[in-house]
Amino acid sequence: MPDEPLHDVAIVGAGPVGVFLATALAQRGIGVVVLEKRSQAHRHSRAIGIHPPSLAALERLGVLEEIVQSGVRIDRGVLRIRGRERARLDFTSTGARLPFVVSLPQLDTERILRARLAALDPDALRTGIEVRRVEREASSVRLELGGGAGCVRARLVVGADGASGVVARALGYPAAGRSYPHRFVMGDFADTTGDGALAVLHLHPRGIVESFPLPGERRRWVTHLPLDLGLDLDLGDRSTDAELLARLIAGRTVPGTSPDPATSMMTSVFGVRRRILPRMASDDGRLVVIGDAAHEVSPIGGQGMNLGWLDAEALAERVPSLLGALESPHRGRSPRLGDFERARLRSARAAARLSEFNMAMGRPASGAGFALRRALIATAALPPLSRALARAFTMSGR
Ligand SMILES: Cc1cc2nc3c(=O)[nH]c(=O)nc-3n(C[C@H](O)[C@H](O)[C@H](O)COP(=O)(O)OP(=O)(O)OC[C@H]3O[C@@H](n4cnc5c(N)ncnc54)[C@H](O)[C@@H]3O)c2cc1C
Repeated sequence: MPDEPLHDVAIVGAGPVGVFLATALAQRGIGVVVLEKRSQAHRHSRAIGIHPPSLAALERLGVLEEIVQSGVRIDRGVLRIRGRERARLDFTSTGARLPFVVSLPQLDTERILRARLAALDPDALRTGIEVRRVEREASSVRLELGGGAGCVRARLVVGADGASGVVARALGYPAAGRSYPHRFVMGDFADTTGDGALAVLHLHPRGIVESFPLPGERRRWVTHLPLDLGLDLDLGDRSTDAELLARLIAGRTVPGTSPDPATSMMTSVFGVRRRILPRMASDDGRLVVIGDAAHEVSPIGGQGMNLGWLDAEALAERVPSLLGALESPHRGRSPRLGDFERARLRSARAAARLSEFNMAMGRPASGAGFALRRALIATAALPPLSRALARAFTMSGR
């Protein structure tokens, strides 16, 4: 297959982050191609929470209205112990211009983003194309494609190819990180709780139960798997997982709270890793990684996709001047990307710390450990701290 003309920007990966970046570049009139190895959507909806800074970024992309109309607006979250409310986080008090969280399954969010990209540049997204190798050339980057699809060359290549992506491997920076022994089970069910648009955390000595509203009168439930169960669970049997999840929830909440397994729409078991690269760009600025490709944080905290979008928006702002600098004969390390990396990695580390705090609060505890948690929660319920927590949970200032 003949090689194509040189692109300005090639993005590897059309998850939420790659498509966000492509759309933001297309909005600026920059030529972009997005290469995605999947031809079908993911089976599971992973992320659901869209936080205030992302809502503002999605507004600039021109999709906020559709996102808000398709999702559920969450104004507050409550923490309950044995059915009694012990603390409340009011997102409307955070001072954000859009002071709420929108809950929308990632599959729907990705569909809306892809439609926006197609409206701006119908040829940008190519699916069913895997990037096998990333090779540096004198003044471009060559991407070798699988399946005899030839190669693509671009002045700038952005890896939005998720954890363990091929672009991060080409960058060669050693990731700092760890895998945690914890495993969680999540599932979407018909909502019979009467909690409406409230996000609810049920604290229990055997582990936290999280419950979030979803559009279409559904609710997402997440809880900690007992270690002995978690390690050899047979994944993929939805009815078994749904019954297990409902049973775990029933044992950690008051009667009448647990969902009906017969109404299960999706279940999934996931492990937790923290992996953050020390840098996000090559010295010459031709290779950059964003989203999970640069930093994987625990889903308990629900900030990974949001972090990636904020990377994408910050990078899109710099791409016009970066492309200019890449064309100049005396380029050195771009100081603009230095700022970008520092700010974005700081944000990723803050998200990782918050998710570790959430995991620590949510895992099984002894009697004394649980009493300490209750005391912490009583303090956190006081207004100055609860406002600070609401800001942290909704990514204020990031
Ligand atoms: C259970 C769970 C719940 C979560 N909940 C939340 C939440 O509520 N809020 C939140 O913000 N985050 C949440 N997350 C995290 C969120 O799902 C991820 O952070 C997000 O999907 C990352 O997006 P991405 O585009 O960077 O990577 P991905 O979504 O992983 O997309 C990468 C894409 O690149 C493609 N690709 C990979 N390699 C290649 C290649 N060589 N060639 C071509 N294409 C390639 C892949 O097929 C994929 O489509 C959750 C995650 C999990 C597992």
